[in-house]
Amino acid sequence: MAIPNYQDILDLLKNGLTIEAREKILELREAALRLQEENLSLKEKLKQSQGDCDLGNQMLFEKGAYWLRTPTEDGTNLLGPYCQVCRDRDKKTVRLHLTNAPGGGWYCAVCRNQF
Ligand SMILES: [Zn+2]
Repeated sequence: MAIPNYQDILDLLKNGLTIEAREKILELREAALRLQEENLSLKEKLKQSQGDCDLGNQMLFEKGAYWLRTPTEDGTNLLGPYCQVCRDRDKKTVRLHLTNAPGGGWYCAVCRNQF
């Protein structure tokens, strides 16, 4: 639905067409509400993707897996490892489990990959 033109409303009022003008004003108000809702949901999305970026900056790729860099009092601490496949494919931060296999290794319970 197009947003009513303000000039059109003024013209209607000038010509004494107040009912028509009122309809247009109601349409205008609806359009404003719609835009407000859309704006809110866009802001929410933006906040979400900014959060993802922040996490990305603290993520370190090493030894075939992701590690989360967390600041501590005496430097930085590495948490993890986290699954590289899940993070790259699904944008999910999934902790890996140690496998019992000889030689060690990591296992993802979500995508069932071994690293
Ligand atoms: Zn995984």
